[in-house]
Amino acid sequence: MAKKKMLAVMKTARAYGCELREVDVPRPGPGEALVRTLACSICGTDKHIYKWGAWAEKRIPTPLIFGHECAGEVVELGPDAGDAAVGDYVSVECHVFCNRCRQCASGLRHICRDVKIFGVDFNGCFAEYFTVPARCLWKNDPRIEPEVACLQDPFGNATFTVSSCEVSGKTVAVVGDGPIGIYAAGIARAFGARRIFGLGLVDSKLAMMKQFGADEVINVKRRDPVSEIMAATKGEGVDVSLEMTGAAPAINQAIAILRRGGKMALFGLPDGPVSMDIAEGVIFKGLTLLGINGREVFNTWEEMLPLLAEKRVDPRPVTTHKFKLADFVKAMETGLDPNVDSGKIVLAP
Ligand SMILES: [Zn+2]
Ligand SMILES: [Zn+2]
Repeated sequence: MAKKKMLAVMKTARAYGCELREVDVPRPGPGEALVRTLACSICGTDKHIYKWGAWAEKRIPTPLIFGHECAGEVVELGPDAGDAAVGDYVSVECHVFCNRCRQCASGLRHICRDVKIFGVDFNGCFAEYFTVPARCLWKNDPRIEPEVACLQDPFGNATFTVSSCEVSGKTVAVVGDGPIGIYAAGIARAFGARRIFGLGLVDSKLAMMKQFGADEVINVKRRDPVSEIMAATKGEGVDVSLEMTGAAPAINQAIAILRRGGKMALFGLPDGPVSMDIAEGVIFKGLTLLGINGREVFNTWEEMLPLLAEKRVDPRPVTTHKFKLADFVKAMETGLDPNVDSGKIVLAP
């Protein structure tokens, strides 16, 4: 049985920051599970919610317990909670799909028309306990520890991006040296890419991309990735580019380094419209451009399982800091501090 009261990280004021509060442990409603949090991690989305801004003002209801990347143990079930069971060791697919729309009916639940996001549209996991629709639970392999299992949301983004481009035997450029870009380099290696280029802005992160499996890394602040990759591929360009930044110059570079007939996955979210030369850059080159949203439910989770359980890709080096949930503000400020070389930040109650 769960406790009566719990610690929760809440967005109360519609301004910078958050509050730590003691609140009632929620009760699972129909179709829901109550989960005891074992580990959770901070995502870019959480930083936007914490800092507040135009997106958060428009999207985020308050008060809100935020957070969506987690691992935990089911401690109670509401009525009709499917085949979930008390004691299950789980993580959460944060895209809460409706199971009724056309996308859901055709195996595209990650782009459900009526999707609600756990920890964005309703209370999430930055708390000792949380409730979630049981259909969104993924049963973890016990070989995957909670501090790794909570990373399956971003690791799943990387896995879905890589697997969408069928990289086996191909030359691949990973554009962006954030956690998801670093994971993607390791996953592309595990999926049999022939040669991997890593592009980014931070030497320490690029070194980690190399550690994860990139053959060559290019700091785009100092070197021109387009001429270097063209030279390295005998003027052809790469077969696949994976765009993880959302920055307009990076998107254009990711297109320019592609060979004719190449494929590009766009995962990084631009702030607004991006201008590009569609005629020369895309049409005449016969490129395939692919938008990547979330993870396939639950196909991507199946693909991640052997990677993580068999440690074919070990995401742990990207996690630079660990905090207690009670020290959430310190954890978030560490993640936001431009003078701290932080990667993924993991919290535990
Ligand atoms: Zn996330
Ligand atoms: Zn749907």
